[in-house]
Amino acid sequence: MRSTRTVALTIATAVAVALTLTACGQSGEGGSKEEKKGGEGSTVGIAMPTKSSERWIADGNNMVAQFKKLGYKTDLQYGEDDVDQQVSQVENMITKGVDVLVVASIDGRALSDVLRQAGEQGIKVIAYDRLILGSPDVDYYASFDNEKVGELQAGYIVDKLGLKDGKEEGPFNVELFAGSPDDNNTGYFFEGAWKTLKPYIDKKQIVVRSKQTKLDQVTTLRWDGGTAQKRMDDLLTSAYSSEQVDAVLSPYDGISIGVLSALKSDGYGTKAKPYPVVTGQDAEVASVKSIIAGQQTQTVYKDTRALAKQAVQMADAVLNDRKPEVNDTKTYDNEKKVVPSFLLDPVSVDKSNYRSMLVDSGYIKASDL
Ligand code: BGC
Repeated sequence: MRSTRTVALTIATAVAVALTLTACGQSGEGGSKEEKKGGEGSTVGIAMPTKSSERWIADGNNMVAQFKKLGYKTDLQYGEDDVDQQVSQVENMITKGVDVLVVASIDGRALSDVLRQAGEQGIKVIAYDRLILGSPDVDYYASFDNEKVGELQAGYIVDKLGLKDGKEEGPFNVELFAGSPDDNNTGYFFEGAWKTLKPYIDKKQIVVRSKQTKLDQVTTLRWDGGTAQKRMDDLLTSAYSSEQVDAVLSPYDGISIGVLSALKSDGYGTKAKPYPVVTGQDAEVASVKSIIAGQQTQTVYKDTRALAKQAVQMADAVLNDRKPEVNDTKTYDNEKKVVPSFLLDPVSVDKSNYRSMLVDSGYIKASDL
């Protein structure tokens, strides 16, 4: 049996060691994180939502390439639109000791607990494209002007129908689709679009025959094209047995493809029954091809290379005790704080400018189209 004195000494030593460790941890800057300044040896955890859409694959790859150039290691994970999977991916990154996190959330409200752990360990968090809600542990946000995305889509419809310049009086039949209800961007896109359409709806120059005009009536869980196709099928059956639809506000290319499938099955795409104006977002290859073929009409191009660049500059700055560059400190309140943001400009693309915007800029290879 050990003597009481030995036990007391052992305890004293353990307490001293623990105190030293706590002191390092509390400084937040001490220990291993301080030794790993800059790119060298630091690891960036990148959590992306899904590989089912091209844009997120490009976002992930662009960030990995740009971080590598600066000497960082990366841990890139895709949550495949499964909220629990993303939460545990982020948790694992924290456990493995990443130095900074870049997260495009699946459900903007599901990450508070796991990000608290990040905050406690001094790991800075950058919300990528989608704002993370209800958590104080979000340090910066890189995205596009999301309200403007909706304005561009709805503005395109108003313009294409001839209402903007008063060439046409209407009434035109328009149906509305929105994105996933758990994505913070969805509300911003819809708000921008609604503001733009509302004056014409008030004047009855635009009619939503389904009467589904509230955000919670028009969302599409997980931005799923099949879900949108089914809703469009239902709308065509219930509200368009004797009328034609003139335009569909679609917030994302995957949804536009689903909407177009429903329209095709209903006989659209002929001279007597032409495709309506169908908007989109992301300039995905399938949709650009559809635009060239005269099916989808428009998309919103958001250069994921530029977005990756902003997220990389933010991460690099926080790891080097510099302040990241931001250009908006007012708009993005996540209910716990206004998150300093860098917002890029989205661009409307259709048949008339896809070549200069997408091909000449190297965003899409001509051979892919
Ligand atoms: C992004 C869009 C994208 C959508 C579906 C949104 O959060 O901002 O670019 O189309 O998610 O992936």
